[in-house]
Amino acid sequence: MSEKTIIKILGCGSSGGIPDVAFGWGACDSKNPKNYRTRSSILIQTANINLLVDTSPDLRHQLLSAEVSRIDAVFLTHMHADHTHGINELRRISQAYNKVIPVYGDFATISDVIKRFNYLFDPDPKNKHWYSTCLSGIVMKDNPADICGISCTWIVQDHGPCNTLGLRVGNFAYTIEMKDMPPENIEVLRGVDLWIVECLEMGVNPTHTGLQQVLQWAEKIKPSRVILTNMGLKIDYDTLSKVLPSHITPAYDGLTIELY
Ligand SMILES: [Zn+2]
Repeated sequence: MSEKTIIKILGCGSSGGIPDVAFGWGACDSKNPKNYRTRSSILIQTANINLLVDTSPDLRHQLLSAEVSRIDAVFLTHMHADHTHGINELRRISQAYNKVIPVYGDFATISDVIKRFNYLFDPDPKNKHWYSTCLSGIVMKDNPADICGISCTWIVQDHGPCNTLGLRVGNFAYTIEMKDMPPENIEVLRGVDLWIVECLEMGVNPTHTGLQQVLQWAEKIKPSRVILTNMGLKIDYDTLSKVLPSHITPAYDGLTIELY
């Protein structure tokens, strides 16, 4: 990245968010606002482009909080509901800017969202009065991919029931929802300045990343700074902060980082 790039953490919570409608705050201190977590997504902002990574069910609230009303492109990590079900909010943005917004992802993800949200991608001509085409689905092929002028290197990650895509843009990387990190992915991420990575819980999870894995992989990737995201009910901000090395910190909703 040669130009200034801003990373906004729109949400850093796992699938239920925190508080969870059924399980409440879990181990998280309800008095600490940094424990209030909407479902995970980030915004990558250059001078001219707003690239949204995932369309969380909390997207409307997140964009209003971040005072962002324009999205130029979307990168979906995978098709799970907690990363896609806010996609309808893009309809308003598409209408406001009279623009079809490109949505990038792997074949499984793009096929799935086109099927589930067909009215956004391929509306029935009989309903043109109400629905116009708002989104176009694009399956990732080139690597790195050029997304609105931003060079994005992507990696395939094992999330158990499906794959996820991780992303490296310049010296920044975003990797969530994977159960392991094969050597070829370590090589892609090695030496990034900023690594934003999932930390669902302190221990090991069969389909997600826990703290012990983050610490092991960080030894190999050697990022200057690590920010933990996609955190679940077992991760209290202050409790976790106390046990982390100085270059690793938990995220919180609204955290903004400037990169050069
Ligand atoms: Zn998932």
